[in-house]
Amino acid sequence: MENINGIGASAGIAIAKAYCLEEPEFKIEKKLIEDAESELKRFEGAVNQSKTELQKIKEHANRELGTDKADIFEAHLLVLSDPELLNSVKEKIENEGLNAEVAMKEVADMFVSMFESMENEYMKERAADIRDVTKRVIAHLLCVQVPNLSLVSEEVVIVAEDLTPSDTAQLNRKYVKGFTTNIGGRTSHSAIMARSMEIPAVVGAKVVTTEIENGALVIVDGIDGTVIANPSSEVLKKYEEKKTLFEVQKAEWAKLKNERTVSADGYHVELAANIGTPEDVKAVLGNGGEGVGLYRTEFLYMGRDQLPTEEEQFEAYRTVLESMEGKPVVVRTLDIGGDKELPYLDLPKEMNPFLGFRALRLCLEMPDLFRTQLRALLRASVYGNLKIMFPMVATLDEFREAKNILLEVKEQIKGTGSAVSDDIEIGIMVEIPSTAVAADLFAKEVDFFSIGTNDLIQYTMAADRMNERVSYLYQPYNPAILRLVKMVIDAAHKEGKWVGMCGEMAGDEVAIPILLGLGLDEFSMSATTILQARSQISKLSRVEMSNVLEQILNMKSAQEVEELIKRKFFDLISY
Ligand code: PEP
Ligand code: MG
Repeated sequence: MENINGIGASAGIAIAKAYCLEEPEFKIEKKLIEDAESELKRFEGAVNQSKTELQKIKEHANRELGTDKADIFEAHLLVLSDPELLNSVKEKIENEGLNAEVAMKEVADMFVSMFESMENEYMKERAADIRDVTKRVIAHLLCVQVPNLSLVSEEVVIVAEDLTPSDTAQLNRKYVKGFTTNIGGRTSHSAIMARSMEIPAVVGAKVVTTEIENGALVIVDGIDGTVIANPSSEVLKKYEEKKTLFEVQKAEWAKLKNERTVSADGYHVELAANIGTPEDVKAVLGNGGEGVGLYRTEFLYMGRDQLPTEEEQFEAYRTVLESMEGKPVVVRTLDIGGDKELPYLDLPKEMNPFLGFRALRLCLEMPDLFRTQLRALLRASVYGNLKIMFPMVATLDEFREAKNILLEVKEQIKGTGSAVSDDIEIGIMVEIPSTAVAADLFAKEVDFFSIGTNDLIQYTMAADRMNERVSYLYQPYNPAILRLVKMVIDAAHKEGKWVGMCGEMAGDEVAIPILLGLGLDEFSMSATTILQARSQISKLSRVEMSNVLEQILNMKSAQEVEELIKRKFFDLISY
């Protein structure tokens, strides 16, 4: 028994037998067939079986995970109805006398390499869909079982190289107690799914598939990022206790669902959630979110081959506003660029995309695109408590220009007789150091700030947030960052404006006590962290935290800050 270390992707402890997910092995032999007709029938049979299977997976995903996740399988079904693909396979069977599996593979390989060679990211993704679907059809032709995780009927921990969207969509929460994978990081697809399904998970554990045997007893500690196979009875007992403790803790947190977030000395702060799609609102309300602090609208624009229409956007914004029932919803206008591409805009490649033509810069240069989004937002404003914020603001002029366009669009809509709320706050993300440093100037003109630490840290430390090699410089607790955050909060409060934070730091248990002491008004985080944060804040005194600020802001390193917080305030929140 040895500990395998990975990345804790979803908190909790799972203890169950290992279910090693193995990729099926295909032996495809080329044969010349004599009876083309019966081969065509065999092919059609395999396609139909695959369609039925996919339909079931889609329904399962729809029930368990929401329509956006289920859409992946709609795309797979579309591949299986594509006449160009199907006819090419049939022609190979009829004209070249090839057996169905070889014909299917040859056609699929051709389509895959065609899509993969395209510049457009969206089209490239289609290659993955074709590969996934082809595997399913060939498996049926060869009578090989494709692993179907929805058929798991006893308590297990899944051990896999990685989990694809089709794998995660099939997980049955009743039986799948946790999972661990060789690859992946905190933001990989499988990690995000684990958190939204509340299944303990350790990803990026490199050797789990080689070290763990099918059926072995496995502990997945998603809190510390550890996996243990065949534990001794002593270790097992320790983790059973940790599991119970975590569950007691979670039950405690659950009681806070309908409570306001109040510190031990009576200060109220707002705990909101970051969302990417209207479906995410369910989790916000389910976890007692007091609002949406960041709606990343770019997901409406991604994974498709053209811009969303005004109507599509209006429906999405209205749904979110209505479902939040009057609670504040901060919608961020399109923040594309950097790591988020929109291939169909066909923008030239840049040397430094994070420092390039992105977000508000792009919206100001493409007024039609910007105005369409603003029109959709303003029309939706009457359905709830909408606040609009602009991303990546570097200068006051940018903010003024964006605000003027917004006001112009508003007047136009009113001119057509449509209703628009007169109570929409207009704010900005503070994620560029120039804006943080000049926060006092901005504070006079904006209604609120939301500090985007994901970017603010990378720009302040000059450390690419996606680059593993410089990740040691990505330091939320560095006194330089904390001083900047303080400047922003103080500047806003001086003008009577509120300040939120929607970067990952807002939900970080080491940062939370400091941010409380600094006077942050709104913390926006992933929905599943809200209750834990509410519990943490209820045990902290804001006055006490503000009293240690001077010491913290004068520390020499991020590490010193972290140690102090853990030493002084962590016994309050340890599991
Ligand atoms: C941020 O930069 O902190 C932020 C919330 O925006 P994103 O992560 O979408 O860049
Ligand atoms: Mg950002």
